[in-house]
Amino acid sequence: MAARNGAREVVGIGVVVGPLSGIEPALLERAFAQARCGTIAANATLEIEEAPLTVWCEGCGVESQVAMNALLCGRCGTWKVDLKSGNELLLKQVELSRDETAGATG
Ligand SMILES: [Zn+2]
Repeated sequence: MAARNGAREVVGIGVVVGPLSGIEPALLERAFAQARCGTIAANATLEIEEAPLTVWCEGCGVESQVAMNALLCGRCGTWKVDLKSGNELLLKQVELSRDETAGATG
């Protein structure tokens, strides 16, 4: 994909990992180090950002940031909450290094 866009190399990748995503940042880093070998991302750095854990309360309509072992409304304390963020794995950014002699317009 990146090669077709005139990019020579992927220099950095940023991901957002929620605490409930089931993904261990340290393991992700290790897996990335192996997966990038021999690809145009061979020298890329991986930046892992941990997403906050937030819930939305059905009762008071308030969104609050909570701890992993206490998915309760921060205002009224009910457990009737919807998870708003915290279980995601998002690709946030991909930094590309372009071939400057190619005259890319982009
Ligand atoms: Zn509430």
